[in-house]
Amino acid sequence: MSDHEAGQVRRFWEGLGLPGLVDVHTHFMPERVLAKVWAYFDGLGPLTGGFEWPITYRHEEDERAALLRAFGVRAFTAMLYPHKAGMAEWLNGWAVDFARRTPDCLHTSTLFPEPGVETYVRRAVESGARVFKAHVQVGAYDPADELLDPAWGVLAEAGVPVVIHCGSGPAPGKHTGPEPIARVLARHPRLRLIVAHLGMPEYEDFLDLAERYGEVRLDTTMAFTDFSERLAPFPRRALPRLADLGDRILLGSDFPNIPYPYLHQLLALERLDLGDAWLRGVCHDNAARLFGLAEG
Ligand SMILES: [Zn+2]
Repeated sequence: MSDHEAGQVRRFWEGLGLPGLVDVHTHFMPERVLAKVWAYFDGLGPLTGGFEWPITYRHEEDERAALLRAFGVRAFTAMLYPHKAGMAEWLNGWAVDFARRTPDCLHTSTLFPEPGVETYVRRAVESGARVFKAHVQVGAYDPADELLDPAWGVLAEAGVPVVIHCGSGPAPGKHTGPEPIARVLARHPRLRLIVAHLGMPEYEDFLDLAERYGEVRLDTTMAFTDFSERLAPFPRRALPRLADLGDRILLGSDFPNIPYPYLHQLLALERLDLGDAWLRGVCHDNAARLFGLAEG
């Protein structure tokens, strides 16, 4: 990293009069799992949609956390997710420990449709999990699977947000897209889903769901960047809807697994031209309110 980039990121939020950034979509996971994810991106696996994906921040864990702090990210997450049954509880155990040694990380948990999921989700909530991550594409499960139903109920009742990768970008999965999520929300209308990547590429369908359900939010992860605009451009006609939903759009970056510098995500938001008030909400205030962060 360069001090130069950190300075540029800080000037971005200082210029908006913010106390820093809140990034709801950053990846921290056990080292050997992260190594596999990186190998996957290097190998142009299906998740990359076949595109070159050079990881910009391939550093040791403590260095990555230090970099987020240098950027002025006041709070971030540890997005981790299982690709098969029997793995979520182990990941959640790691995440408890990570949150303990990383006070600026919002304690993150995950889940999978499997027997016992309601029990371990409830236990995670009771042990202080602030946010969950679900990855419909990697997990290759139907989010409306009845095994998950009681777990969604626990999370809806507790008001714990779930960042969910459910759009069909950069590559579709068997159960990606808005339809399965619509079924989940029909059963759990107060579930606080945060649709990752703004639902890319089904942006407008997921905006529909956010307009229909007041607890649905969207994260900006990779959206509007040069990289994603080539792959799945955000439709200009939907910009007014993005403005109207300004209090439910949250900054996400996918740090460290991004093929461009962190600053680029911020500038990609700025160039939408939705104004400083919108940027303040998206880059800090909306998530600070959602997670009850103290004033900076
Ligand atoms: Zn991600």
